Amino acid sequence: MAAMSFPVRAITLDLDDTIWPIAPVMVRAEAVLDQWLRTHAPRTAALYPIDAVRALRDRIAGERPDLAHDYTTQRRLTLQHMLRESGDDLGLAEPAFDAFFAARCEVEHYADSEAALARLAARVPLAALSNGNADLKRIGLMPLFRFQLGAREHGRAKPDASIFHAACARLEFEPAQVLHVGDDIEMDVVGGRGAGLRTCWINREARQWPGQHPRPDLEFSTLTELADWLDRTSLDRAVVDGASRTDTTCA
Ligand SMILES: [Mg+2]
Repeated sequence: MAAMSFPVRAITLDLDDTIWPIAPVMVRAEAVLDQWLRTHAPRTAALYPIDAVRALRDRIAGERPDLAHDYTTQRRLTLQHMLRESGDDLGLAEPAFDAFFAARCEVEHYADSEAALARLAARVPLAALSNGNADLKRIGLMPLFRFQLGAREHGRAKPDASIFHAACARLEFEPAQVLHVGDDIEMDVVGGRGAGLRTCWINREARQWPGQHPRPDLEFSTLTELADWLDRTSLDRAVVDGASRTDTTCA
């Protein structure tokens, strides 16, 4: 699409399926947890094969809408339930969670992500805004980000406007000065727009935009294209700023 130009003072970024694909990470983390349980809590592993763990976690998530923003607590409750039902030591819930969580943070970035994020971070402050529980420190990207705000620590998940507003407040910019970037139509684009931010849809799979929603301000298939756009728009603005400075000098 022909990208328009507008000023961007800061960027908030989704993580899962925007910077790395999440499905292979979860499959691997579930396998790591299963292996850990086979070693340390074999009765639990026998009673809860991977499919059963997934079903139980979904059930607990359904029963606890108050925890919709908190995947970490959902996961801990799932583990406690499994250990209790199997007659294993409940004290194993925490080390089991640690094994799962370490694997959950072993992500493989999309090929363009790291270089593009470095280019974005050189232009404007970046903040991570995620409903998931990925830890950017463990993942190694924290140096590129001003901060990371998760739904768990904020208490509400995207698309709730309050989490976008909290991020803008910490960035010390108005929502209209901030661009939110993400893959999810409802959580990132509809949510970001509803909170008054500019929005960029990262559409890596060439999906069709659903007709019932206004289109995002920007749509790109990679973060590299976004970095290219930010370079161009920053150069345009430098020219405009330079021209107005010259005018002032001449006046
Ligand atoms: Mg996402």
